[in-house]
Amino acid sequence: VRGYEGKTVAVLGLGRSGRAAARALRDGGATPVVWDDSATGRDAAEADGFELRDLTKAQAFQDVAAIITSPGIPHLYPAPHPVIAAAWEAGVPVDNDIGLFFQSFASEGFEDFDTAPRVVAVTGSNGKSTTSALIHHILAECGRPSQLAGNIGLGVMDLEPAVDGEVVVLELSSYQTDLARSLTPDIAVFTNLSPDHLDRHGGPGGYFAAKRRLFAEGGPDRAIIGVDEPEGLYLANQLAQGPTDDRVIATSVTQKLTGPGWHVFARKGFLAEWRKGRQVASIDLRDIPGLPGSHNHQNACAAFAVARALGLGPKAIEAALHSYPGLPHRSQRIAEKDGVVFVNDSKATNVDAAAKALSAFPKIRWICGGLEKEGGLEALLPAARSVTKAYVIGREAEAFARQLTGIAAEVCTTMERAVTLAIEEAEPGETVLLAPAAASFDQYDNFERRGDDFVACVEAALAAR
Ligand code: ADP
Repeated sequence: VRGYEGKTVAVLGLGRSGRAAARALRDGGATPVVWDDSATGRDAAEADGFELRDLTKAQAFQDVAAIITSPGIPHLYPAPHPVIAAAWEAGVPVDNDIGLFFQSFASEGFEDFDTAPRVVAVTGSNGKSTTSALIHHILAECGRPSQLAGNIGLGVMDLEPAVDGEVVVLELSSYQTDLARSLTPDIAVFTNLSPDHLDRHGGPGGYFAAKRRLFAEGGPDRAIIGVDEPEGLYLANQLAQGPTDDRVIATSVTQKLTGPGWHVFARKGFLAEWRKGRQVASIDLRDIPGLPGSHNHQNACAAFAVARALGLGPKAIEAALHSYPGLPHRSQRIAEKDGVVFVNDSKATNVDAAAKALSAFPKIRWICGGLEKEGGLEALLPAARSVTKAYVIGREAEAFARQLTGIAAEVCTTMERAVTLAIEEAEPGETVLLAPAAASFDQYDNFERRGDDFVACVEAALAAR
């Protein structure tokens, strides 16, 4: 980390990213003073040899040059964390590890512009991890060195120093973009926007504003923007100097984009790249096992556009799409028996993501439910036409099931019961899909545990048959 040599920098929140930030600050010649509300965090930091300082005390900021906070710590909504409020009052800049990364990451020292390292940052409501992992995979398959970090992969403070020609792919959530004081990717991707995490950002405006920060004035050299929602269209329009400006690559899965600019869109299972009013590439996406459904075609369009912006050829990218293995808990095919396919999409924690998963398969035994998010389930019902029957889990399973108007639904409460019943009733040609449309915290620590439980229940039930 650069910029804090000889200075004292406070670190609030001592999970993995907070401790990595403290280490990087120390390696960069700063003195970190660290704090966490929980004794567990404080103990871990003390074991690493960091100086604890109670940042809740008014005088704590006297000699502090900046404070670095973790994504889990609220800084505005529902209310500022008292330490953040105290830092504001003391006039101390509040930043996070992403801001530190951009402040310190420099392509200086790399003489040749063409081979200087590049940063690609991916944000949006859904598809961030898949798009980021896909970009990383394409680069690796094409022999371009790449590191994957941020919300997925390494913490940004754990990245190795970039080498010539390397690409750093960062997945950034709104929790990270809203606080970072520097955000200067070379290529920025906006996948899509749907209501999620609204509480944390004080409503849809604040949520969009947090994501938009990646595209601020003087922002990326290239912006890859999904234009299927008005927010994306608005962003693309704001950034481009006119219809032929290829600083923006617009992507879509609902429209043919054939205008004079640079576009990548998918329709009826085919991806097309258009530039200056001409088609320059086309790829059949229909039988790519790691990318089922039109939501994944959207991710493929964004990743394809990034790879093109980085100078890769369409044929090489196409080959890499075919070998993409997929990510655990995202449309992940986990088993197949007697003509029934089992898919783990535990990561579908909101209504929009679940609707996408439901649209990706023709006949579905749908395992859903959990801790409901704001806004209800109504937006999901049109996509649920493909559902033969819903098996509802979660502590509030009954209330959840009641909202599934027009769908045969059975309250199962536990994953085990839901899986057993779904397997008993499934016919060949159907898909047993976990796509909860809800958070997992009523029954699990996180969506990964929920997905693991689904996999374990499926394996046990299949073995018992
Ligand atoms: P994120 O990192 O933004 O949460 P993921 O790639 O982890 O995104 O996918 C999260 C869930 O959202 C997946 O389980 C999948 O059902 C759904 N999903 C993936 N890509 C998209 C997309 N482009 N649009 C809508 N939903 C998507």
